[in-house]
Amino acid sequence: MPIYEYACTKCEHKFETIQKMNDEPLVKCPDCGEDSLKKLVSAAAFHLKGSGWYKTDFADKKSDSPPAPPCGTGGCCPTCPTE
Ligand SMILES: [Zn+2]
Repeated sequence: MPIYEYACTKCEHKFETIQKMNDEPLVKCPDCGEDSLKKLVSAAAFHLKGSGWYKTDFADKKSDSPPAPPCGTGGCCPTCPTE
């Protein structure tokens, strides 16, 4: 599920929340209680690299290490087992 970032136009409280794509956008600020939330376009919600538009597991996995590229022949790179 995508991560949405909201900011309150009254008290400037900012927070992120995970919602389904077809959920109603939030309006009520959890901080001041006013119906003055504005949905921001968060960089975290649009992760263009990788498998799709939404990096849904972004919040859970903080690791940046990409999976090792496929490597067919032994000894072609330092990580390859040499036979
Ligand atoms: Zn507020």
